[in-house]
Amino acid sequence: MQNIDSYDFSGKKAIVRVDFNVPLNDSFQITDDTRIRAAVPTLKKILSGGGAVIIMSHLGRPKGPEDKFSLRHIRPRVEELLGVPVHFAGDCMKADADVASLKPGEALLLENLRFYAEEEGKPRGLAEDASDEQKKEAKAVVKERQKEFVRKLASYADCYVNDAFGTAHRAHASTALIAAYFPEDKMFGYIMEREVAAIDRVMNNPARPLSVIVGGAKVSSKIAIMENLLDLADNMLIGGGMVFTFVKAMGGSIGSSIVEDDFVDTARRIMDKAKAKGVRIMLSDTVVIADRFDAGANVRTVRADSIPDGWMGMDTAPESIAEWKEVLSGSRTILWNGPVGVFEMEPFAKGTEAVAGLLAEATSNGAFTLVGGGDSVAAVNKMGCADKVSYVSTGGGAMLEYLEGKELPGIKAIKG
Ligand code: AMP
Repeated sequence: MQNIDSYDFSGKKAIVRVDFNVPLNDSFQITDDTRIRAAVPTLKKILSGGGAVIIMSHLGRPKGPEDKFSLRHIRPRVEELLGVPVHFAGDCMKADADVASLKPGEALLLENLRFYAEEEGKPRGLAEDASDEQKKEAKAVVKERQKEFVRKLASYADCYVNDAFGTAHRAHASTALIAAYFPEDKMFGYIMEREVAAIDRVMNNPARPLSVIVGGAKVSSKIAIMENLLDLADNMLIGGGMVFTFVKAMGGSIGSSIVEDDFVDTARRIMDKAKAKGVRIMLSDTVVIADRFDAGANVRTVRADSIPDGWMGMDTAPESIAEWKEVLSGSRTILWNGPVGVFEMEPFAKGTEAVAGLLAEATSNGAFTLVGGGDSVAAVNKMGCADKVSYVSTGGGAMLEYLEGKELPGIKAIKG
């Protein structure tokens, strides 16, 4: 495996998979260019090392070529940020001439990879009533075409760089399959490198104690993560809406709190597994409740197993936060996934805010703290804590699958 810092890009053409899936408004202006800016260090490293970059990405979920999903809309911004000429190839399968005229220090942006079904390897345009046999056949056809698609993309370059962590959990042409064409010349970009290093620091031999905070609305979406992390963690702190399924499993009264009755047994199994493994489970056992799901509701603070009828648990209360603080301040590694209350509503954001603060404090005391997965990332950003924790993961789905213990195709393709 090569390393972007030591690889000699001089005179080479590098094909770089980035995540330029940025939001555009109705006039095709970029409303948030964070993802483009995030990839700039990788692209500039190659350019300043004497290489040329061929940039490839997806944008949105087109069903075929559609101007509103064209990457041409973002080309000027990429050029501005890179400070070098950025050419555009309007068809990612017909870019030979553009690639041939590309000079060292220049960039070529390929059109949206997902204009081709071959990128994802999934058939398109199948009739709704297609039989299983027809579906199978269509899939075989697109998989066969995908080989040519990958070969063509690979033919443009001397080396391959993957810097799209957000799609690392997909075995697509540009995120995984293409790597096979560059056995000695494939590497991670800086975003990928940092994400992988941060998660590995938690998942492989973490500094102990390791505490995991799991929140969010539902147990069902976090079971795989919890089960996998029970093999690793010393403490598991559980908050948010999912806590009420656990409380119900223990026979508590949860009023009209969010609950998944189908997962009460699962919650019981998770607690049994934790006991067998010696993992300390700490539920948010004191909660702020409300008489309706509304920011203007009446509120009270009660034990999570004694919620009156008609009231619902909305946030982790200060009493529980105080207990968590003791555990977190002694932890050397902390992983946080999922808000511990309905943080979108100001009166129920305090628990999540407090957790963000505890992570910031633990970080300043030398702990390694990783925040990952959708809403908890939004929460640290909202609290202005993103630069006070060790690492905030950018890849929602990819991060979740990594935490579930799955091997990500985009990482495996490079690491082997
Ligand atoms: P997730 O995407 O699974 O991490 O869930 C995040 C969502 O969980 C957020 O929208 C929160 O508002 C929601 N949530 C957190 N605590 C609760 C709760 N006590 N009741 C209902 N929803 C909650």
